[in-house]
Amino acid sequence: MSIKHTAVSYYGFNYAEHAEKDFAEMRGHGCDTVILAITEFDIDFWFPNIKNIVREAHRQGLRCIADLWGFGKFFGGENVSLFLQNNIRHRQVSALTGETLNAACFISEAFRDHLTEVSLSLARECGVDGFFWDEPHFALPKSYASITGGPGEDWACRCPECMRKFQEYYGYEMPRVMNDDIKQFRWREALKTLSDVSAALKAFNSDLEITCCVHATLNDYYLTEQRGYDNWDKVAACPYFDVFSTTILKWSLPETFFRQIAERTVAVAKKYGKQSERWLMGYYQQPDTFEQIDRTVDMYEKLGVDRLGVWTYRGGYGTKLAAPDPIGLWDRIGQNYRRVLKKK
Ligand SMILES: [Zn+2]
Repeated sequence: MSIKHTAVSYYGFNYAEHAEKDFAEMRGHGCDTVILAITEFDIDFWFPNIKNIVREAHRQGLRCIADLWGFGKFFGGENVSLFLQNNIRHRQVSALTGETLNAACFISEAFRDHLTEVSLSLARECGVDGFFWDEPHFALPKSYASITGGPGEDWACRCPECMRKFQEYYGYEMPRVMNDDIKQFRWREALKTLSDVSAALKAFNSDLEITCCVHATLNDYYLTEQRGYDNWDKVAACPYFDVFSTTILKWSLPETFFRQIAERTVAVAKKYGKQSERWLMGYYQQPDTFEQIDRTVDMYEKLGVDRLGVWTYRGGYGTKLAAPDPIGLWDRIGQNYRRVLKKK
């Protein structure tokens, strides 16, 4: 068992000649893949240079994967959404309060069409090697947490389009209180959004690699966040996904939690013939001692994780979410990447 790929996410890119130096630094840190965190503004405004940046990554021997970062606030990410700015409709709606939420309804055909069109244009015109579906999720409307620490009762999406689709399928009005039909509806429709766009990308070029990265939550008998992609079996079974990935865990969580998530990630990926990927937190927080990074990487390798990812380049240096010692953290992760890829 060995780690086959080591990725780092990268944002704030506009010029290929600037990215050239950053890519060289990534290679020096043992990265073989760069995940471009592309914002909706980048796609709208900087599109010509995305192609040049991908070309530069390839010139340096880096695989280059597109992450539609924060797209419609459907995917995870801090950046703002142009889709929400440009559309006053197609938004998620709180089930309990009926309030419109600041997240696109990804069950709506308008958003699905937009996502497919943007993804295909990046594949066609920019030459990316694949796509990274980054923490897709239903919005979690604000509400009271239960006394046991579980999530509140509210959920999304109960917009007119979701309500119509639910009614057509089940023959009754979508209730305000979540039931098993709603859970099934949300899992099915959430997966359909990513399955359809992935199928369209594979139809264009079957070599495009698709990773689906879901939240690394327990989703056990007692507690699930119901974000729509929490049924890992359903997600990993999708024939258009190549890699099953789970997100970052805070370094302060117990080691047993890291182990549980990694074991489950590898098991589910193997069950459906996918590669497994685990992410390392390379921004915001860092472990009390950097040895924890070494131990975690060793554990992941031993458990059969195929790929590692780190969010983000240079420990988030210069952003609000920088680690306390961003460069130290980035360097230690780089040392680990080189070690597992058997580079000196
Ligand atoms: Zn909806």
